[in-house]
Amino acid sequence: MIFGATGDLANRKLFPSLYRLFEKGNLSERFAVVGVARRPLSNEEFQENVKNSVQSAIKDSTRLDEFASHFYYHSHDVTDSSSYLALKSMAEDLDNTYGLEGNRIFYLAMAPEFFGTIAVHLKQDGLTETNGFKRLVIEKPFGHDLESAKELNSQIRHAFSEDEIYRIDHYLGKQMVQNIEVIRFANALFEPLWNNRHISNIQVTSSEVLGVEERGRYYEKSGALRDMVQNHMLQMVALLAMEPPIRLTTDEIRSEKVKVLRAMRPLEGDMVHEHFVRGQYGKGMLDGEQVPGYREEPMVDSESNTETFVAGRLTIDNFRWAGVPIYIRTGKRMAVKSTKIVIQFKDIPMNLYYETGQTVNPNLLIIHIQPDEGITLHLNAKKSGNQLEANQVKLNFSNKSGSGINTPEAYEKLLYDCMRGDATNFTHWDEVALSWSFVDKISEVWENHKAKNFPNYEAGTMGPEEADQLLAKEGFSWWPVADLDVDNC
Ligand code: NAP
Repeated sequence: MIFGATGDLANRKLFPSLYRLFEKGNLSERFAVVGVARRPLSNEEFQENVKNSVQSAIKDSTRLDEFASHFYYHSHDVTDSSSYLALKSMAEDLDNTYGLEGNRIFYLAMAPEFFGTIAVHLKQDGLTETNGFKRLVIEKPFGHDLESAKELNSQIRHAFSEDEIYRIDHYLGKQMVQNIEVIRFANALFEPLWNNRHISNIQVTSSEVLGVEERGRYYEKSGALRDMVQNHMLQMVALLAMEPPIRLTTDEIRSEKVKVLRAMRPLEGDMVHEHFVRGQYGKGMLDGEQVPGYREEPMVDSESNTETFVAGRLTIDNFRWAGVPIYIRTGKRMAVKSTKIVIQFKDIPMNLYYETGQTVNPNLLIIHIQPDEGITLHLNAKKSGNQLEANQVKLNFSNKSGSGINTPEAYEKLLYDCMRGDATNFTHWDEVALSWSFVDKISEVWENHKAKNFPNYEAGTMGPEEADQLLAKEGFSWWPVADLDVDNC
């Protein structure tokens, strides 16, 4: 059951992802999808919508009619308690028709303020009373801070146990984010070097070219810290920094990630100003066109204090990471769209090539997450010719060119995991709570100290100068993400 089946997420992501699963044979014939939303639609109209959204995402969709015939629509206001019973009887009929054995997934693709009400009704009206499995899939944002997240959690826990709740962080569905684990734990080469003896710093960048677009109302209340850092950025850091789990099971991996979040040094008071930088975009040029500043965007306060950029230095207080800064940055209206992780290894103890006037570049391992997917390793090797000169070489793997496999959409992977009951790539409540408690302390300081210099970066740049100073004071600088692209190597 998809609640919010006429919305943007359902149309752009969920229907095309379900179709891909269907076409690959990962979804058997024994499935039915009930779309729930307020506007009145017949089953046929809904099926037409489903076909249209699949077609606009996938060119060669040859089994559309067959696929869409599994879709049914129920017009229903989720705040109206009287119509859950009708939904229940529809679910029971479909259960019989398709032989679903009582297995039910409830996907809440709607605003979080409805999650609690829906969960309560699903239980109260008997939709969760089933002989098969019942699972709840929910979207971010999971609360606005720790308090609201706790409240939301207690509402949904009323109807679902923790292991029945699948909190989506779509970054965790991305191939290359999942690849962090494989690169680290399936190669003898990296794990022995993965510590403060050999790594000098780690940089995680997730930059967007788009501005806030029509999401001004939501973004004004959220900002980059809550929208990106609390979930996606900290999840990537947890995967990078965790200890090898004893087994690759959901519980073991989650428990190692939780340990990283617990070891992350909390920032309070002046430490926030020292370790975190916020920014807001002003007008600027992108692709030769003038774009407005954040404060000029629709539904944004003309004196808004909301950050559209965050950079920060994270410290993980454990034996492995003591002394290694982990820098993160994310923002809107930046120069390039890129999500990348750069692991910079320490310099060699002495440069034997110094006499020839050469600097030896540090070794870098770059994990390209989006839009390009791949891994690059920067090494030094001899330049061809007579002189003994070291030259930077880049060993490159691109998912596009290398494997020749079309990377599945994150939502496709996550939906499939949920159907199979694999919660590894979803966030556990403990992770959510720890990330909020880290982020809340930063927001508290920022809310009490209005940013005086907003807007402080031009649209089309890589953020405010203070973000560069954050690294410069420790002798580092951001690796220019555009130059590191797989295609540029
Ligand atoms: P949206 O386009 O505004 O869709 C909201 C859906 O909820 C519509 O189908 C709407 O249909 C339905 N709805 C609203 N009030 C309702 C009510 N009282 N009873 C029943 N149905 C109701 O939102 P969205 O962009 O799809 O986002 C959905 C959720 O996913 C949000 O939590 C969002 O933060 C999250 N999310 C979205 C994206 C994305 O790419 N869009 C990405 C990450 C997370 P009717 O008007 O017909 O009722």
